[in-house]
Amino acid sequence: MRYLDPRQFGRLVPSPDGAPIAEWRALGRDPLADGLDAAWLGEALRGRRGPVKLALMDQSLLAGVGNIQATEALWRAKIHPARPAGDLDRRAVARLVEGILGSLRDTLAAEDGPELTYVEEAGAPNPFAVYGRAGEPCPRCPALVRDVLGGRGTVFCPRCQRPS
Ligand SMILES: [Zn+2]
Repeated sequence: MRYLDPRQFGRLVPSPDGAPIAEWRALGRDPLADGLDAAWLGEALRGRRGPVKLALMDQSLLAGVGNIQATEALWRAKIHPARPAGDLDRRAVARLVEGILGSLRDTLAAEDGPELTYVEEAGAPNPFAVYGRAGEPCPRCPALVRDVLGGRGTVFCPRCQRPS
C-alpha cells in the first residue's frame, strides 16, 4: 500500500472489524451526499456566537467543508467570515447553502481529472473565485484583502462581504 498525503491533513486508522471508526461517526452532515437546506443549517447555526467561517469548518457540523470551501462559500453568499454564525438571518442562511453547494460542485467539476492538483503547487491553476487571490480584484468589486481568523488564512472582499 502507498499512501500520499501532501497536505498532511489525512490519517489512516485501522478498523479490524470493518465497523465505522469513531472519527467517521463523529462527522457531521455531508452537504452533497446527505443534502443541505436552509432550515437545517439555520437550526445548526442557531446560538453559535463564534465566526461563521469557523462554524462551517467544524467537521462535526458539516463534513468536508474546509478552509477553501468555507472561504469560497462565504464569498458567494456575500457574508463576512467573522460574522457570528447565529446572527445570520434566513435569507443569508439560504445564500450560504447555495454558496456551499455551488462551491463544492464547481470544485469537483474543476477537479474532474485523474489527479488532484493543489492550488498551492507551483504553476497549478487556481479554479477559485477568491481563495489564494489576496490582493487581486474581487470578481464583483475593486479589491480583496487577506485577514487571519482562527489561525487560518481567510480571503474576503471588504466591500461585498460586510461585517454586518
Ligand atoms: Zn467584492
